[in-house]
This record gives sequence, structure tokens and C-alpha cells, in this order.
Amino acid sequence: KQAKAAGTPQVYEPKEASAARRRFSIETELRRALDKDQLKLFYQPLINLKSGEVAGFEALARWTHEDRGEISPAEFIPVAEESGLILQLGRWAMDNAAQTLANWDKAIGETLPLYVGVNLSAIQVARDNIADMVSSALRSSGLTGDRLTLELTESSIVQDPGRATRVFEALKALDATVAMDDFGTGYSSLAYLQRLPIDVLKIDKSFVSGMMRDPDAVAIVRAVLSLAEALGMSTTAEGVETVELATTLAALGCASGQGYYFAKPLEEDEALAYWKSRRRR
Ligand code: C2E
Ligand code: CA
Ligand code: CA
Ligand code: CA
Repeated sequence: KQAKAAGTPQVYEPKEASAARRRFSIETELRRALDKDQLKLFYQPLINLKSGEVAGFEALARWTHEDRGEISPAEFIPVAEESGLILQLGRWAMDNAAQTLANWDKAIGETLPLYVGVNLSAIQVARDNIADMVSSALRSSGLTGDRLTLELTESSIVQDPGRATRVFEALKALDATVAMDDFGTGYSSLAYLQRLPIDVLKIDKSFVSGMMRDPDAVAIVRAVLSLAEALGMSTTAEGVETVELATTLAALGCASGQGYYFAKPLEEDEALAYWKSRRRR
């Protein structure tokens, strides 16, 4: 692209080429990491904004690469989706999250009043048998379906609404909770809110973090909260980074909150300790 200046060693390469190269090696290495079970799930608490107790945890994939260090899900999840590896990753996450919640029950010696949330990619909805995947995770962990929340995005609906409807209904038949993730950032119509069995709206952090400086963001959050209430759905706010946001959201009637103000995603045993520390009884 650029003429090489005399005497200057050309240590760079065109941006697109190096990005494509990195993407390709991420794919190869992600495949290996999945086979060698090198990914981990971290658990971020969702706090009941009324009681202050932990309502549940969202399972988030983490990958520490031997040489490259921590690789963000924002980078490897899209690669997993493009390559189809998300099917394997998604099943792994489902099984492990369910097993972790079962382990916590066992450690405390009771059925904990907690759920675990697992992200489902639109690619999984389009290509995998979700009902089969979830029932197999329930069977091997021994959990009942009401302990699971599946977080789906609007993009899993727009491509094939008929298929999405069957998937959502199959999840309800297993007694699982269905949450609409990143609500408000997608391109689908509001009509699906009426047609699909959705239990929870997760308000995207882009709206939540804007609330303190932008009255329009507050208006959007208010509107989503009243829409959810009118439709009999619960609400979670993502990206709660300050006590002011937590207080404001609680006053507006948002049911739960998730964000760095409460805790970042935690390792399995840290997460259980966090639950204990906020337990009332
Ligand atoms: P998401 O589902 O919207 O998850 C929430 C993201 O917000 C997480 O990023 C979380 O660490 C981050 N977060 C939590 N609290 C705060 C906060 O207060 N402020 C800010 N700025 N960020 C906060 P993470 O873990 O990097 O994951 C990014 C995305 O990768 C997730 O977004 C999700 O779409 C995807 N992802 C992660 N794990 C999985 C997985 O196992 N399966 C699938 N399909 N997707 C996953
Ligand atoms: Ca999510
Ligand atoms: Ca989200
Ligand atoms: Ca988000």
C-alpha cells in the first residue's frame, strides 16, 4: 500500500491482512482450546434491586491464551460464530454452567434460590437443536428447568421467526426462563414481544450508562420498563457501574441490575462466596 522508505525495515503489514491472519489463527487456536478444555466460565451476579440479594449469575466465557494472554469474548465469540465453533462452545457453556449451579447446591446442601444465565448465539438457534442441548444439560446436572435462564438476542429472531418461535416455546416447555439480551440494540420489530414467550428484557448497557448525562437515555429506559411491566415481563439493567445508577434504576422499578458496581464476572468459588456475603437469612 505504501512505498517502503529506504533503510526503513518494513515491520508492518497492511491492516486487513494482519487482521485476517489473526482471525485465522484465533480460529485454529480456539478449536484446539475447546478440545483441550482450556476455556473457563466466569459468573457475574445479577442483583435484585429491591432486596439487594443475588438473584442469579450470568455465565461468561473466558479464554486465557498460553502466549497471547487474555482474549476478549468480543473477539473470539464472533470468530466462533463465523467458523461454526459456537455450536461446540455453546454446548460446553450450557453443560458447565448447569453443572456449576448443581455443585453450588451440593456445597451449601440445599436448592439455592438462584438461577444461572447462559448466552445463546443466533447461530445456535439457527443450526443447533437447542431443546435437546438444554434437556441434556438438565439431565446430567440434575437441575430443574426453572434454574436456567437462556439469554437470546433479537438477531436470533429476525432471520427465521418461525424457527425462533419453536425454539422459544421448547425452552418454555422445559420450564426455563427466556431473556431478551441487549434489548433495544437490534433491528427486529416490537411485534415479536407480543408473539414470543419472553420472560425478561435485559436493557443494554449503552442505554444504562448514558442515563447519568443524557435525559433521552433515561426516557428510553423508562419506556422499556413500562413496556415490560405492561407485557408482564421482568427487567434487568446491564452495565450498572455506580451507586447512583443502582438507586435510580431501583426507583424506576427495574427488577435487577448487573454491573461493575456490584461485581465483575467472578470465578466459580468467588461467585458462591459473593452470593453468601449478600444473603439476608
Ligand atoms: P453480553 O451477553 O451483553 O454480556 C455482558 C457483557 O458486559 C460482558 O462482557 C460483561 O463482562 C460486561 N459487563 C458487565 N458489567 C459491566 C459494566 O458494569 N460495565 C461494562 N462496560 N461492561 C460490563 P464479556 O464477558 O466481555 O462478553 C462480551 C459478549 O460476549 C457478551 O455480551 C456475549 O454476547 C458474548 N459472550 C460471552 N460469553 C459467551 C458465551 O458463553 N456464549 C455466547 N454465545 N456469547 C458469549
Ligand atoms: Ca448476555
Ligand atoms: Ca447483554
Ligand atoms: Ca450488551
